[in-house]
Amino acid sequence: MSSQPHTVLPWVVRQTRLPLLSSRCVDCRSEAATTGEGRFRVNANGKLLDVWLLVHCVSCGRTSKLTVHERVPVRSLDPCELDGYHANDPQLVASTLLDPLLARRNRFTLDWRGAWRLDAPPVALDEVWPTRMEVLFEAPVPVRPERLIARGLGLSRSEVSRRVKCDISLRRPVSTGFTFTVLAGD
Ligand SMILES: [Zn+2]
Repeated sequence: MSSQPHTVLPWVVRQTRLPLLSSRCVDCRSEAATTGEGRFRVNANGKLLDVWLLVHCVSCGRTSKLTVHERVPVRSLDPCELDGYHANDPQLVASTLLDPLLARRNRFTLDWRGAWRLDAPPVALDEVWPTRMEVLFEAPVPVRPERLIARGLGLSRSEVSRRVKCDISLRRPVSTGFTFTVLAGD
């Protein structure tokens, strides 16, 4: 048997809908908001522009504004981007929401529960070991590698810690691609 790792199809973490936002509603104290259908508000003041992304409390519907651009010169924005704000372009809504800068500036975190799935082609557990596997992220979903690997391989977490070798910590959440090697079981 060769000791060269056997490579299989990559697993892919895919977004299934936009995540909710974890931020406390000032009216009802609920902690979840949604972009809903996705709307921007653009306000021109002379040559300066403000752009906000509107979000709604999932409990009471209260609308709040997240600052996307604050008093920026109109000319500093790409005309296509500006058109996208006026047209409430769904792709621009998604990329704006997922931009870590927006979350930092407006003090919210994304709640990815139920908003993603793992597409993991099945791996036969009597395959040739070791097997090298790759995980690709189509969306920046923070996941703990040990949980993802346990789910994808149908192993317990203690089996994962015994059988999986990885260059990164298996316990710390990641949201970018990584590879790992699965060793033969006992
Ligand atoms: Zn509310």
